Amino acid sequence: MEACIFCKIMRGEIPAATVHEDDEAIVFLDINQAIKAHLLIVPRVHAAQWHELDDGTMAHVARLTAQWAPAVVAAVDADGYNLLLNNGEAAGQEVMHVHFHLIPRKRGDGVRMAGVKPRLADAEELRGTASVIKAAQRARE
Ligand code: AMP
Ligand code: ZN
Repeated sequence: MEACIFCKIMRGEIPAATVHEDDEAIVFLDINQAIKAHLLIVPRVHAAQWHELDDGTMAHVARLTAQWAPAVVAAVDADGYNLLLNNGEAAGQEVMHVHFHLIPRKRGDGVRMAGVKPRLADAEELRGTASVIKAAQRARE
């Protein structure tokens, strides 16, 4: 895609600090480091959202998250990591080319992934919501 910033990085038109590239994906540092060593894992195919990817690309990108997570954790002596995938503007997606954030985490680092305070739901409500989701899935089949 001509104007897409991640496609431009993959075409070499914009520089990036790349740690890995192959035929299907590229892994580089996010220019805004939520915490040091915050990576982005990006398939070469220009698709906006996760569910638009074909199974092979999905598997490859998911595998890259697992391959690079231990290295990222070791590199900055982290205690854990978050995988984050924003889909759609409402979910905080700013670059409309699907990508995983791989964010190393340290105890007490103060990084906040979301400001949501979850509400405890009762069993009846959860069963009702599960039914609505399953009906939506059946309608898509
Ligand atoms: P999202 O909000 O999930 O779409 O995340 C997009 C991410 O892309 C943000 O964290 C940006 O900091 C990052 N980003 C935007 N432009 C660049 C760039 N030129 N190089 C590296 N990361 C970028
Ligand atoms: Zn793109």
